[in-house]
Amino acid sequence: MRCSRCREQAVINLRAHRLALCEEHFVERFLEVVERAIRRYSLMRRSSRVLVAVSGGKDSLALWDALTELGYRADGLYIDLGIRRQDYSRISREKAERFAEQRGLELRVFSVQEEYGLSMPELRRGSREVCSVCGIVKRHVMNRVALEGGYHVLATGHNLDDEASVLLSNLLRWNTELAARQAPRVEAWHEKLRPKVKPLCLLTEKETATYALVRGIDYVSELECPFSAGATSIALKEALNRIEEHSPGTKLYFYTQFLKHRRIFRSEKPAKRECRSCGFPSAGELCSFCRLLLKSRLRGEKRDN
Ligand code: AMP
Ligand code: ZN
Ligand code: ZN
Repeated sequence: MRCSRCREQAVINLRAHRLALCEEHFVERFLEVVERAIRRYSLMRRSSRVLVAVSGGKDSLALWDALTELGYRADGLYIDLGIRRQDYSRISREKAERFAEQRGLELRVFSVQEEYGLSMPELRRGSREVCSVCGIVKRHVMNRVALEGGYHVLATGHNLDDEASVLLSNLLRWNTELAARQAPRVEAWHEKLRPKVKPLCLLTEKETATYALVRGIDYVSELECPFSAGATSIALKEALNRIEEHSPGTKLYFYTQFLKHRRIFRSEKPAKRECRSCGFPSAGELCSFCRLLLKSRLRGEKRDN
């Protein structure tokens, strides 16, 4: 297979675009697509101070690398959840730290254990749903660090496979409320929040993995958290890949056409109440994160007595 641009040996065949590319032209195109997403969906400005949430996995490290290559001012944030099973947190933290060190980039490490005195396994005792706990904690920490660090936007490594499978899941259940809120840029609807952006939303997992490989990025390949119950999202991703195999380009079309039409879905305006403990927007008197802290601490005290 030869590169469509220079006839050198190709490293990837992008059937959706009828394009085979060599290393050099693949990287060039990858950066073009990131920039295209940033412009098309007004994700950020050249002057924006960006906080990239990095998990130590391929997507978020590829994103940090690409934003830096494109000349954006991007710092990283690693959230250490204190997951000891399979040494998960320690290994992924090291990948993020080494990446930052090698490239002379600024990484903020936020340890949940050090800040709140509770590890993820302890926090999980405050709730029955393991994965939702992880999401609540990460969201709270990302918002807090973005605000306190004076960043303009918060970027995550969600790729096209992630976005298309979430969209499919929302549509299979006709969850119009969630569909209405799914976007490459989610605006801040409260003064304490910052816009959340997904600059990799037009690139597949295969493309981000190839980019990470070509750019020599060392990442945790076992990205799935050991507590993850991500079976449904994996099944949906596989289903989409099977359709893609049959009709290349469907995944991208499904997602980008949705973005064109998403105004047909409406969402209720979120309540503008504030959590009485942390001050971040909340549906009730306490936000879901502070409720979680409280419950986990109460359980801990009960056990100790
Ligand atoms: P996930 O929910 O694990 O698929 O991750 C989605 C995105 O959230 C990743 O691409 C990262 O941008 C971010 N993220 C996940 N885990 C962490 C973490 N421990 N610290 C910082 N950011 C994270
Ligand atoms: Zn080439
Ligand atoms: Zn709170």
